[in-house]
Amino acid sequence: MNGLERMLAVFQFEKPDRVPVFLNNTFSNATLIGKTVSAVCQSESLFTEALLTGYKTFGYDGIRVGADVTVEAEAMGCKVSFPEDGVPGVCKHIVDDEDDIDGLRMPDPYRDGRMPMILKATENCAREVGEEAFICSLVMGPVNIASQIMGVGNLLVMALEDPEVLEKLLKFTSEISFRFAKACVAAGAHGVVFGEAICSASMLGPAIYQDMIQRVHQNLIRELNINGIKYTTLHICGKLGDEQLKSIADTGATSLDVDAPVDMHHARTVLGKRLAFIGNVGTTDLIIKKPEEIEENCRQLLEPRDLGLVLAAGCTMGPATPKENVAAMVTAARKYGRFS
Ligand SMILES: [Zn+2]
Repeated sequence: MNGLERMLAVFQFEKPDRVPVFLNNTFSNATLIGKTVSAVCQSESLFTEALLTGYKTFGYDGIRVGADVTVEAEAMGCKVSFPEDGVPGVCKHIVDDEDDIDGLRMPDPYRDGRMPMILKATENCAREVGEEAFICSLVMGPVNIASQIMGVGNLLVMALEDPEVLEKLLKFTSEISFRFAKACVAAGAHGVVFGEAICSASMLGPAIYQDMIQRVHQNLIRELNINGIKYTTLHICGKLGDEQLKSIADTGATSLDVDAPVDMHHARTVLGKRLAFIGNVGTTDLIIKKPEEIEENCRQLLEPRDLGLVLAAGCTMGPATPKENVAAMVTAARKYGRFS
């Protein structure tokens, strides 16, 4: 089986030959090719080179075509800083109140900011290795885009004080996620992973998720499914309780990319075959631990070797992640993730 076949088997709860590995490692791939994160996140050719070099070096099963989290916000008009020794970030928010929401511009994925760079890199990866690897573009989800353009603090206040206004904003940002995801698949992606960092119990909380966000995710995924886009993953940072896990499963997402604070064994028990799980080695562990420790950590995650499981880091892997630790994850999947 190749990586693409393995990943698709997992999404359909069929038996792959072994558990696949699918990492969120653009930043550590930047280091691998001797470039900064900011340089890689601003150049189509360096971005493609980093993604393909990582894939060819380590032999994992899919490529996440993802840069930093500001791509959509920048395309909407947010100014973004690109520090020499850090990760790109929004400098100034563009939404304070309802009037600002009415004045927002719908970005065009084919023209605005770095969205075309993501599309082009998706196309490059698909052309180069799309027959053998799962190509999956990273698109920010509606809540993440909203948090980028207004700030996390303001978003939390709006969720509590003006939920109708936030719903209006999320309708707009959902349309951005939808159009971008559609364009990524048209460029050759097999699927899309939505970055929804703050939707966890640690940030927005399960009640707001259940009352407002779940519907937003459900509608987005339904629209994508109607448009023939089958493989959708939600990435949520931080903790998730049982009830929220069930709400997430009801969105219709194919898989959930979970962060290290989630007990993935328990979560898999709670949801059974309702969605596949991708996770969840701690990103700090991946920087500070030795390869043998990472291998052991992966071995534990792969027990029991259930269907519907993909080995990955819990979140974005930092630029300082040693390449030996990336290799240890692939080794662990080959050693301990076999079904036959
Ligand atoms: Zn995360």
